[in-house]
Amino acid sequence: MNLESRFLEIKNQWRGSLEFNVNLSRYSYYQIGGPAAVLATPKSFQDLELLNAVLVDTGAPFFILGWGSNLLFRDEGFAGVIIRMKQLFTECEEREAGLIHVGASLGCSTLLRKAQEKGWGGLAHLTGIPGSVGGMVVMNAGTHLGEMKDACVSVERVRLGKLKLLERETLTVQPGDFSYRHNHFLNAHDLVLSACLKITPTDPSQVKSQIDDLYQRRKQTQPVEFPSCGSVFMNPQGTPLKAWQVIDQLGLRGTVAGGAQISEKHSNFIINRGSAKAADVRKLIELVKQKAQTELGILMKEEVKVL
Ligand SMILES: Cc1cc2nc3c(=O)[nH]c(=O)nc-3n(C[C@H](O)[C@H](O)[C@H](O)COP(=O)(O)OP(=O)(O)OC[C@H]3O[C@@H](n4cnc5c(N)ncnc54)[C@H](O)[C@@H]3O)c2cc1C
Repeated sequence: MNLESRFLEIKNQWRGSLEFNVNLSRYSYYQIGGPAAVLATPKSFQDLELLNAVLVDTGAPFFILGWGSNLLFRDEGFAGVIIRMKQLFTECEEREAGLIHVGASLGCSTLLRKAQEKGWGGLAHLTGIPGSVGGMVVMNAGTHLGEMKDACVSVERVRLGKLKLLERETLTVQPGDFSYRHNHFLNAHDLVLSACLKITPTDPSQVKSQIDDLYQRRKQTQPVEFPSCGSVFMNPQGTPLKAWQVIDQLGLRGTVAGGAQISEKHSNFIINRGSAKAADVRKLIELVKQKAQTELGILMKEEVKVL
């Protein structure tokens, strides 16, 4: 039985959306990518249980998609199941003093809007990151002002595709669980359901002005008018140079490959000028890596995840 027929068997009980042979470019900030065999967007925990049963039965490859702001989908697509976290777990509430419970599919902008309303200080360093809470936990997303790890107290997860029975597990964050743009306690089978973040009660107007200032700065320094995944490379180790400075030293700012370009405005962004293929973006990534290594002896590592 093929994957699609197996999914059609659960369709009557499924509350979210199920799509087949879907163009992934619609689901990535880059607006790039080939077809996925199945795109499943669960809407209830029962949906997750049904989905998990299919994954266990079929052994089909799967990938968890948040808001798609740090992903480059290949032009060839993905012959498995993309699990899109958009509709399930979008809650955001203060359950006890100084701690908020946030669902994995909640967008960072909604979280920060709520922080402004409620006077939740301690989250402004996440301003301008366009992803979901789940994606921010996995990536330990952050800016020069701080990272997700600075606020994250615990994470709730389920492990997909292993056992028929899904078990919700709450993991208390331990020292060393996060590093720069990495976590060390989740694997590719782990679906983040929610996180608990610490906040500091602050005057709402102060939270608002801090966030507004940071948004303005972003607009001035980043090519937000073009599809991208944000910074393509992590800042390299063993050199005081930031990733964008390495790219500038190599003289690559503005370099074009097909429909992709190393942004003129921020050289650590590779933008889609309208018709870019994943292959174009990857060509520029390889060019930067190869020149950085041979000309400067610097190892550049991708922050973007290529599927
Ligand atoms: C214009 C722009 C600016 C950006 N600026 C920043 C920045 O300042 N700092 C920064 O750190 N990043 C930045 N990014 C990158 C991106 O927003 C972050 O990495 C963000 O955390 C990704 O979240 P997402 O929900 O879009 O995850 P996705 O891109 O969908 O996925 C990223 C990873 O998280 C996993 N994942 C997502 N959700 C879940 C879940 N619920 N459970 C398990 N795994 C999951 C995916 O499998 C994948 O491995 C920027 C991106 C853009 C487009």
